[in-house]
Amino acid sequence: MPEMPEVEAHAERLEAQFRGRVLTKFTPFNFTALKTAVPAPDEAYGHPLLSVGRRGKYLILKFEPVSFVIHLMQGGRLLADSKLSAKPRGGQARFTFEAIEGPDGSIDETALLLTEQGKERRAGVWCLPSADLDNSLPLSKLGPEAAGISPERLAEVFAANSMRVHGFLRHQGMVAGIGRRLSNEVCHAARISPFATTKQLGADGAAKVAAAIDQCVAEGLASERTRNDMSSSKDRPSAVHNRTGEACPVCGDTIRDVEYSSYTVNYCPTCQTGGKVLADNTTSKFLK
Ligand SMILES: [Zn+2]
Repeated sequence: MPEMPEVEAHAERLEAQFRGRVLTKFTPFNFTALKTAVPAPDEAYGHPLLSVGRRGKYLILKFEPVSFVIHLMQGGRLLADSKLSAKPRGGQARFTFEAIEGPDGSIDETALLLTEQGKERRAGVWCLPSADLDNSLPLSKLGPEAAGISPERLAEVFAANSMRVHGFLRHQGMVAGIGRRLSNEVCHAARISPFATTKQLGADGAAKVAAAIDQCVAEGLASERTRNDMSSSKDRPSAVHNRTGEACPVCGDTIRDVEYSSYTVNYCPTCQTGGKVLADNTTSKFLK
């Protein structure tokens, strides 16, 4: 799933291409694409796209008086669409803009198309009042932005929520923008066990994790900004994520994993667990 660096770089590309374009139509292609009933998307018709932003893993197309919040989930993409076909493959929703004349006299009718391949159809669009975005679902349930969080603020959230740090980092209500890859990478960069609890880590651990978040996000952003489209997961930088059996780039130890039904924890024993190899069993006492 795209995480903060991928969504941020994608927002930058979309803003460069579409800012100022006037919305003429929003078209959902199936009944699950638009997650809200009010306000109506047509309130944004005739208004220019003010910005393309991000909060957590959500993209935000800002118009007045209503804006669109988009979650790509696993396989969703928001892409320029000049074909404007009536039934685009995997199409979930389309933002159509007023045609503009290019410098060479050509007419640009490019729209923005939300696609999601496969049957899951979990990507979606929320139409929300622009003045109240942060207080509206789904954004209101997000924790503070992970990127740039201060050690003090992170220590507060650690203290208020005792849980394993890997789960904490993936929980969007704790800190927003981190997913399965970055959780693995942040724990490795911070040299902490993914199964340490936030309570055990305390203020010192929070400082390490905050620094590791900034480092991993900066690496991800630098990589993603070199691209013209959103990377797929295999293209994203990683020291340990998806590298079970490979050598740790820091110490050379073999990278291990603990598998769960919907994600895999990767870690380096030497860097993170004092050399201990953790049992691949969610109920193991060795995970404590
Ligand atoms: Zn290592």
